[in-house]
Amino acid sequence: MTGFKGRWAWVDLTNRTIRVEPADIGYCRDYVGGRGLQAKLLADHLEKTGPLKDPVGPQNRVIVGSAALNDTAIPTAGRGSCSFVGTMARSPEPAPWVPGHKPVHGLVTHSSAGGLFPNMLKRAGFDQVVIDGRADRPVRLEAVDGALRIVDAEDELFETAQGHRVPRRASEITDALAARVKGGSTLTVGPAGWNLVDFACLTADYHRNFGRGGAGAVFGSKNLVAITAYGKDAIAYQDAEAFKAFGQEIDKLVKASVDDPNRTASFRPTTGTTWWLDRAFNGRYLGVKGGYLPWHNFDEGAFDPADYDKVSTDAFLAISGKHNVCNKCRHVFCTRSAKVESGPYAGEGVRPEFETIALWINCCILDRDAIFHLNALCNELGVDTMTFGSVMAGAMELGEKGFLAKHGDAPGFGDAAGMVRTLKDIAYRSNDLGRLLGGHSDRVIAEVAAGAAPAALSEIAYCLTTAYGGLGYAGISPKAFPGMFTAYGTSNRGRGDHTYAWTIQAEEGGLKDARDLAAYVAEGQAGKALVDSLGLCDFFTGDITAEPFLSLYRTLTGIGYTPESLKECGRRIYALERRLNNLQGRDRTYDAFVPAKLKVSLGRGAHAGRAVDEAFYNSILDAYYDAWGWSRRGTVPS
Ligand code: SF4
Repeated sequence: MTGFKGRWAWVDLTNRTIRVEPADIGYCRDYVGGRGLQAKLLADHLEKTGPLKDPVGPQNRVIVGSAALNDTAIPTAGRGSCSFVGTMARSPEPAPWVPGHKPVHGLVTHSSAGGLFPNMLKRAGFDQVVIDGRADRPVRLEAVDGALRIVDAEDELFETAQGHRVPRRASEITDALAARVKGGSTLTVGPAGWNLVDFACLTADYHRNFGRGGAGAVFGSKNLVAITAYGKDAIAYQDAEAFKAFGQEIDKLVKASVDDPNRTASFRPTTGTTWWLDRAFNGRYLGVKGGYLPWHNFDEGAFDPADYDKVSTDAFLAISGKHNVCNKCRHVFCTRSAKVESGPYAGEGVRPEFETIALWINCCILDRDAIFHLNALCNELGVDTMTFGSVMAGAMELGEKGFLAKHGDAPGFGDAAGMVRTLKDIAYRSNDLGRLLGGHSDRVIAEVAAGAAPAALSEIAYCLTTAYGGLGYAGISPKAFPGMFTAYGTSNRGRGDHTYAWTIQAEEGGLKDARDLAAYVAEGQAGKALVDSLGLCDFFTGDITAEPFLSLYRTLTGIGYTPESLKECGRRIYALERRLNNLQGRDRTYDAFVPAKLKVSLGRGAHAGRAVDEAFYNSILDAYYDAWGWSRRGTVPS
């Protein structure tokens, strides 16, 4: 094979065996790579075992790998894939606050991360590492120059914290393993994953994360600490000269989009994703009016502009340093280092992303330096910043309403120091509050309700927008845009995810008919499945179904897609994930759930008076299932 390394490793941690086999060329053609291939390999597993009831049981399969374009010179071709059944998006017990509740046992989750690790794993000789079972003692994997081995995790990788032996912080593990494998790149669990926090992530190269869905908890459940990769094996091309020529053409197109001040790509090298802060708050950066930056656990989309200035796009630009980008990134360069010079949160690291900042503003945190510090701490402890933000906003409202009275130190809205403290408590499960908040939200609701009057149940559930298997809504107010709410509600990896479809520019541009919104979301989801399966970043600005991209791919792999056949791959991948999610219990009941809080109108700002209109949302859902060719129960025909 060319483009791909053509080697898949099958790791059985229970029996401590590794098998390396040639990749299946048919799978690579039909499911493209990265996310698509991993969905197929998960399907092969789940169709044999049946529904997976316990995502932190040994039967969960986690796959780490890349795609054909990874490690080529194409801009942004440094994004790798990690797939598994997620720990956060589940609701296994009866949930009386959900009309017609049906149990959901964890959804098929794909997570994308950049940095160097995905490309280095490929250089080490492996396209996919498929990990099953559970080791009987802590282990790590080492992929070096074509060989993969299971190694007992060394004592130096652990410390004792709060009476438990847990892995050290991510940077310490990465440093320790860099000393053992010179030039290597490491993907590691943090203390949170080891402690099975349901929204624990995996961290690569210090600050790149397989973030949402709980990959860290799945690694922790397998007694797997880290994967280190090193290799120098370059990619083979079908036609290296032709690839280079097409690559130069693509490169020019990407550069042109970044150079065009009327394209949002032009802001990325300076502001990264943080330009969305201003756009969401006040409509700057080619926006309209703003008014959809969430505030006070999604109650509002606007707040005092003087407060906003403390955490604006410019505020984060003021602490930003040089670019600190993923391997092989070109032109777009969205990540910058950052430094807080003094004060309690002084330190160096990377600038937080828009979604992270937005969801912490949603906790009414107006301290830029604290946000920087919390972000760095999440990277060290292995916590997904976004779900952490959603969980904390819910906890703050629970506290405000008196439901966390027995946890005397539960932080309230705006309490940055309390949020730092609670983050550590969650990661180390060091007290009752940390243990409570580290679980998936339905468990939190049930536990809090167990200590309250029966009539309080719906009020408790009201506080947690992560209820009924949600990942937590991303940083655009779900009340302002029905199309985005549909994207949130139907994302294969769980309610609240914003990456599988994105509608804001289209809705600000006037898209509002139910059928149009549904079709836009469905098309976006199929397109994103392709981007992830090609190993590219969301911010790749080329058209992947047009020439010269298709020719470029053919000169790399020999696989000749037409625009239609490549689009069909995207639809195949997305529908396969959905079919697996049907197996896990998801149908329309899950998609149609609207948290009660989101039916209450915004009170101020450009979108005052708007809330999620359940009837309209259901009409979009009908059209959405029609667009996909699924039943209106949300099931994929077999
Ligand atoms: S645009 Fe940003 S996330 Fe994407 S590859 Fe470049 S640095 Fe990484």
